[in-house]
Amino acid sequence: MTKRSVKRIPAPNRGKRSGYRPPVCIFCTAPPDSLEHILPVWTQEIIPPLPEATFSEYGRADGHYIAEDLTESLVSNRERGFDVAHLRVGVVSTDCNTGWMSQLEDAAKPVLSSLIRGEPRLLSARDQMTISTWMTLRAMVSEMLWPDRACTTQPDRHQFRAQQQPFQNSKVWLAYYPGDRNAKAVHRYATAHTATKGAPRQVVAHCITLRIGALVAIYLYSVVPALNTFYFEPPLAAFVSRIFPLPVDRLDWPEAVNPIPDVQIFNGVRKAFKEANEAAQQAALAGVRRRRT
Ligand SMILES: [Zn+2]
Repeated sequence: MTKRSVKRIPAPNRGKRSGYRPPVCIFCTAPPDSLEHILPVWTQEIIPPLPEATFSEYGRADGHYIAEDLTESLVSNRERGFDVAHLRVGVVSTDCNTGWMSQLEDAAKPVLSSLIRGEPRLLSARDQMTISTWMTLRAMVSEMLWPDRACTTQPDRHQFRAQQQPFQNSKVWLAYYPGDRNAKAVHRYATAHTATKGAPRQVVAHCITLRIGALVAIYLYSVVPALNTFYFEPPLAAFVSRIFPLPVDRLDWPEAVNPIPDVQIFNGVRKAFKEANEAAQQAALAGVRRRRT
């Protein structure tokens, strides 16, 4: 193999990040002695992963990629083509991983397996809550790929371990994508604000999209109330169903077959997040102006 034929794209859990260990488990006070996959291992039974060493050219059509896009001045764009099935972070304790986290996965697996396979299914309000709770856990694990720019706090995570329900300041949507059934993706958009001059920027909102097969799950968490203006524009709006807050009694899944290419789904999510951020900033500026006059 010549040098040129090998495309070296470092995975986020390698190199710089491979050694990242928080002082304690992100959910409890025990040592973080366990590795957790970003996409749960059970999904590999449905979509067999590519060999770990396979790094494909970045291609949205292949759909094995990860991206982060931090808005405002902390800008960082990374897109990598490889199978995200292998991504792991060493941030949780064995007790958490094999205990309540495993139970939560077991509870979500039957319903999520259908959605990943793209099988029609009736989602009860309870199913929707199960998926939203699962997505909350996945978002908190996923954001540890960028540990210095995490959005959720340790108290939030302790609360989640105790209550195992989605946060009030979060939203969860599902979209059905019947394209490449083997595609997987992790996308994160985050925004950082500087509270006072010289103080470190704090990530105050983020939006994490997971795509596993036919399932696209979108998670928004924000400590900026104005980000509640987050909405999807057409045509994406017609193919996205909100399941938290206020899950409907019965959601006939899929509500509509999404004809939009997946690149447009991700771009639509990014656009929604950026526009909600701009609206939040304008609202904050207007508040400052009002206080000055
Ligand atoms: Zn723990």
